Amino acid sequence: MKVYVEPELCIACGACISLAPEVYGWDDGEKAKAINREVAKDQENAAKEALESCPTEAIKEE
Ligand code: SF4
Repeated sequence: MKVYVEPELCIACGACISLAPEVYGWDDGEKAKAINREVAKDQENAAKEALESCPTEAIKEE
């Protein structure tokens, strides 16, 4: 599973980082970003939950 954040859609609510702190973090522009584009197997459920919880659908799976 690979994920990325569309920075122009991110409103910096922090939900993804709260739900999956090993997958998402803040970038220098104070938007969320995927720490590693390739999600570790044991982080996939958390990564997906965060993706589904993003209020602006800024998190994309590829
Ligand atoms: S949940 Fe969505 S809007 Fe909120 S910080 Fe994460 S990517 Fe940005």
